[in-house]
Amino acid sequence: MSLDSSGISWTDGTLNSLYGCVECSVGCRLCYAVGRVYRNSCNPKRNGDGSFNGLVKNGRFTGKLLFDPAHLYAVLTDRHPKMIFVNEFSDLLHDALPMELILEHVRVFRAASWHQFQVLTKRSHRLAALNESVLAEFGSWPENLWLGVSVCSGTKLEMQRIEHLGATDGDLKWVSFEPWVSDMNAPLRETSPNLRHMLRKNKVAWTVIGGESGPRADTNLMTLDDARYLLEESKAAGSKVHFKQLGTALAIQRGVYSTRGKGEHRAKGGNPDQWPEDLNIREWPEVPWKSVAEPPEFYPAYNSGQWKHYRLAAGQK
Ligand code: SF4
Repeated sequence: MSLDSSGISWTDGTLNSLYGCVECSVGCRLCYAVGRVYRNSCNPKRNGDGSFNGLVKNGRFTGKLLFDPAHLYAVLTDRHPKMIFVNEFSDLLHDALPMELILEHVRVFRAASWHQFQVLTKRSHRLAALNESVLAEFGSWPENLWLGVSVCSGTKLEMQRIEHLGATDGDLKWVSFEPWVSDMNAPLRETSPNLRHMLRKNKVAWTVIGGESGPRADTNLMTLDDARYLLEESKAAGSKVHFKQLGTALAIQRGVYSTRGKGEHRAKGGNPDQWPEDLNIREWPEVPWKSVAEPPEFYPAYNSGQWKHYRLAAGQK
């Protein structure tokens, strides 16, 4: 069992212990995870026991989630330190997941201290409860857990995730402004003139910026002005910045979109050679990398070898 290679520029690999989700943001409109999870359900090698059945219906997530313990615990035996993005096909703080299962992930991340785990959520309303649970069990957040929120537009609903993040005691906090969906009638620099203060106040150490990619993403535009403003405000707040990609719509607008060409993610506008010079910045936060050690004796609470399903209860989203 190994990590999945994702091609995401800001990480070394992805840990996919969860599959399935539900849309909750403007950034979910073209969620690529739906298609990937559906393809798993059609693949007899991946879905021989039917575990992937019912996660996607009519091209949308159903609210049923699948937990694969083997992928989670595999990081304990991976002896090569790396940055690991946690769950690109779900959300670790999804409402259907019991807090104890989320905590089990934190236990594993803490035990695999030589890796850096990059957690990203849109369910920031659960961060306060998770913070309380983590502090009760460990006294502090693991140093190697980067706690992040996705913010996909300048609306209050999206921006409040930064405040929720700031209210936690996370050791390293970060914000992914991706996929960024611009409001054509309201430039971000006018609607969020205090963004740098918000980022500084909430101790955001790292931001990732990018437009939406994919064959249907030609309508979700990140304007060049919003992209520049996100970058300028992040720098002014003292955050490290990673500009990931222009996104499909901006790449088309700038005449650099192509579905052909090797290696440089041209279809995503992900080739830095094609960006305006001031956007060409790919930084990471400085973190203390620990040497590889034997993980402490670990008694996995969920390592039954069985895949488990969780469902949203009535009223949950
Ligand atoms: S939170 Fe992420 S995985 Fe879930 S629907 Fe939205 S984009 Fe997809």
